[in-house]
Amino acid sequence: MSTIKNTNLPPSVKIGYRTLRLEKLSKVKSQCHAGICKWHDGLLLLAAHKDTQELAATILHELFHAIFCGFSSRKELTEEQEEQAADILSNGLGAVIRDNPELIAWLVHELEGGDEGDE
Ligand SMILES: [Zn+2]
Repeated sequence: MSTIKNTNLPPSVKIGYRTLRLEKLSKVKSQCHAGICKWHDGLLLLAAHKDTQELAATILHELFHAIFCGFSSRKELTEEQEEQAADILSNGLGAVIRDNPELIAWLVHELEGGDEGDE
């Protein structure tokens, strides 16, 4: 495994208390997976993508797998249900993020504590 080059992708993503390193998925596993989330190993593995738009969609999808794994105390969904939910949420949220940069900036600011967080 190695870090992902040729993009200005950050090397890791923080999800709650956990930091997941973004690394390349092996060629063999890339044949059947665009990405794999390994929450307990602190890894988000990504296959080579034909463009960064596809890569971004995969990262969002894998982030939902990470959230399902890290933020639920037990397995609430079947694998198929989680896959469907990750697809729906990542496609929907991806569109919202892309089309509403001002709202996203506002949400980030407020989640950090708003103007009180600036002090
Ligand atoms: Zn998936």
